[in-house]
Amino acid sequence: KELTADSIEINTSRQVLNAAFSYVTPRIPSHPKLIHVSEEVANLIGISSEKTQSEEFLNVFSGKSILPDSRPYAMNYAGHQFGNWAGQLGDGRAIVLAEIEHNYQKNMLQLKGAGNTPYSRRADGLAVFRSSIREHLCSEAMHYLGVPTTRSLSLILTGDVVLRDVMYDGNPEYEKGAVVCRVAPTFIRFGSFELFSSQNDIENLQKLADFTIEHYYPEILIDGKLKYVEFFQKIADKTRKMIVHWQRVGFVHGVMNTDNMSILGLTIDFGPYGWLEDYNPDWTPNTTDNQNKRYRFGNQPDVAQWNLYQLANALYPLIGEAEPLETILNKFQELFEADYLNMMRSKLGLTKVLKKDKKLVLELENVLQLSETDMTIFFRELSNLKKDFSVGCGISIVNNAFYNPKEISKTILKSWEKWFTKYIDRIKLEDDSDEIRKTKMNLINPKYVLRNYMAQIAIDAANIEDYSLVNELYMLLKKPYDEQLEFEKWYAKRPDWARVKIGCSM
Ligand code: AMP
Ligand code: MG
Ligand code: MG
Repeated sequence: KELTADSIEINTSRQVLNAAFSYVTPRIPSHPKLIHVSEEVANLIGISSEKTQSEEFLNVFSGKSILPDSRPYAMNYAGHQFGNWAGQLGDGRAIVLAEIEHNYQKNMLQLKGAGNTPYSRRADGLAVFRSSIREHLCSEAMHYLGVPTTRSLSLILTGDVVLRDVMYDGNPEYEKGAVVCRVAPTFIRFGSFELFSSQNDIENLQKLADFTIEHYYPEILIDGKLKYVEFFQKIADKTRKMIVHWQRVGFVHGVMNTDNMSILGLTIDFGPYGWLEDYNPDWTPNTTDNQNKRYRFGNQPDVAQWNLYQLANALYPLIGEAEPLETILNKFQELFEADYLNMMRSKLGLTKVLKKDKKLVLELENVLQLSETDMTIFFRELSNLKKDFSVGCGISIVNNAFYNPKEISKTILKSWEKWFTKYIDRIKLEDDSDEIRKTKMNLINPKYVLRNYMAQIAIDAANIEDYSLVNELYMLLKKPYDEQLEFEKWYAKRPDWARVKIGCSM
């Protein structure tokens, strides 16, 4: 079931009809320089550690030369951006080089920042070094946190400059250009289906759905309309599970447009993402989303469901009736809440399922917001609690998580006392010993996450050719649940200077 291709090999921006992708040529960088390789990703696709240091590797993954007998392409897709229909978007700065099979696993290799494609619209097809560092580190950090995600093989400086507008003084600024190689079984998105559906191109819509099922959902064996219903069900399940993980580690995607929703439920497109520092469900790292905060932490589950509605609309022509899709959509919230509660139970070290746990979790979420409390540090330190601790002792254990311990008023303290009283009573009902509970909690609650200020320090150093911090953070984030004494300095609240929003424009 070959997908229709747009075979005019020119990279100029245009509307592309009746095609799922366009053949393109990556841009040749002037002085490519390898900054970092994820050896594990290299090994995953069958590239030895030795080979990653070769000139051939540098040439292929910077876009300088293409693999023999390959035909790189950019994918066509549409999407809803910030709740509005945006029409055709497509890979404006991403180019698939090839699909690689190794150890019976197939993966796509995709360069990001390797120049214009038919989908670049008015933009330049390039990526700046700082956002490439952020994407490279975060992809890998998410993987090691156990969150479904696209991976990142390499981070390469192109040796060319990229022009980016700087908003505050209106003067243009030149930045270093870079290329990252993303790796995933596929980069097909919700928006890939929305494209054909919006063009009323049902033939290609069906081809794309059949192709996706055959290659990525081979477990679907039913034929006819039910095949697409089951397809949608599985996408909804995977999406839900991904969001539960995001909420678990405090990850905020920032741009949950339907073109950034993977059909495999993978975290994709690391733009202005961030991690919750003080627990604030209204927080978004996306400075362009400050008004509505559509993509705030606490709204991610609802947005996922909204995005699934758009996908359901797109798949509707293949099914012809709304009811089976609506049933799946209506169940999303209920299933999410159940999964979420179980996930929160595990964050709290609770293995028994008790009815009152829901209230305990809700109350915790409320108290966490009474004063600035670091989410990561709170849950990590909470594992040190012991069943025979007094309430006062319990609170002092998480003291390190409070941004302004002095500002905790009597009322706030009372709320904490109330919560800790319940929590200590609750863990007494568990069979696990304190030691075992701690071990379990520390496998769920990361000690190290990629805080914005950490990425920023690494970027500042990298901009003056010191790549040691990129390496250090990569090593640190490979083991986010381990105690790493040599990296203890990264287990810290956001410093005060980092409270000022760091610009995250791409
Ligand atoms: P994003 O918000 O990163 O998901 O991007 C939305 C759309 O804009 C996608 O179609 C991207 O390919 C495109 N895009 C973003 N940045 C650039 C760029 N520098 N050059 C070309 N296209 C871009
Ligand atoms: Mg995108
Ligand atoms: Mg992006």
